[in-house]
Formats: sequence, structure tokens, C-alpha cells
Amino acid sequence: MSPSAPSCELCSTPGGEVLWQSARCRVVRVDDADYPGFCRVIWNRHVREMTDLAADERQELMVVVFAVESVVRALFSPDKINLASLGNMTPHVHWHIIPRWQTDKHFPLPIWGMPQRCAKGVSLAISNQEMINALKEALATTEMEEK
Ligand SMILES: [Zn+2]
Repeated sequence: MSPSAPSCELCSTPGGEVLWQSARCRVVRVDDADYPGFCRVIWNRHVREMTDLAADERQELMVVVFAVESVVRALFSPDKINLASLGNMTPHVHWHIIPRWQTDKHFPLPIWGMPQRCAKGVSLAISNQEMINALKEALATTEMEEK
């Protein structure tokens, strides 16, 4: 693995509000008013591709991604969930879990596409604590150790 460069943003900052973390990965909430509930699952060390992870590491990462998806669906009732792993800009493999609504700013395009309309302001006041509690519960049945 490449050493953690001091300039790496995801080594020096959490990259969002941390909702849950294990020794190997973390769930952060992205602060984006257009997409409440938008989360990322970030692998803590520098790994570029999913196939660079050992089998048990892939398993852990996807269990967490699916737990986040379940929690976001339950709390935000979006019309669709977008799962995306791009990672062109950072050496940390990570997944975006993005709740989508037919009235959101980019629907039906990816959120990185051209805006389609003024955001209708999906205003869902779900607190970080509500998300933390739901995630704890979703991951409690797994063998994963919360850090
Ligand atoms: Zn880093």
C-alpha cells in the first residue's frame, strides 16, 4: 500500500460527519442540502480498487454499504437509491449511497450530471443521531466490531 500522504484529504479529515466506524472503514454523512441522507462508506487505508481488497474486506465493505442503503431507505423513503463507486480523485476506495427523488435537482441523471431543475428542497429533517441509532441497529447483527 502507498503510505498515507499528509496531503490526502481522507487521511487527514473524516470527509463528513462520522455516523459509524470500524477499524477498517467508516460511514460519513455528506452535507448536501439537495440530497439529505447522502452517505459515503470510505475504506480507511489506501486501496484503489475493490479487487485490491481481500475477500473478507470486500465482504465487510459491502455489508456496511447495504446497511447504509437499508437505513437511508427506511428513514428517507427515496424514490430510488443510487450506489456509486468512482474514486477517480482519491486513493481510498469508497461507495456513495445517494437517495434520489423524482423531483430532485438532477433526476433522472446522476447527481454529478447537468442540473435538470431548481431543487425542490427535499426537506427531511432526520438528525445524525437518528441515522447513528439506525445504523448501530442494522450492523448489530453482523460480526463487525464498531470502533
Ligand atoms: Zn488517504
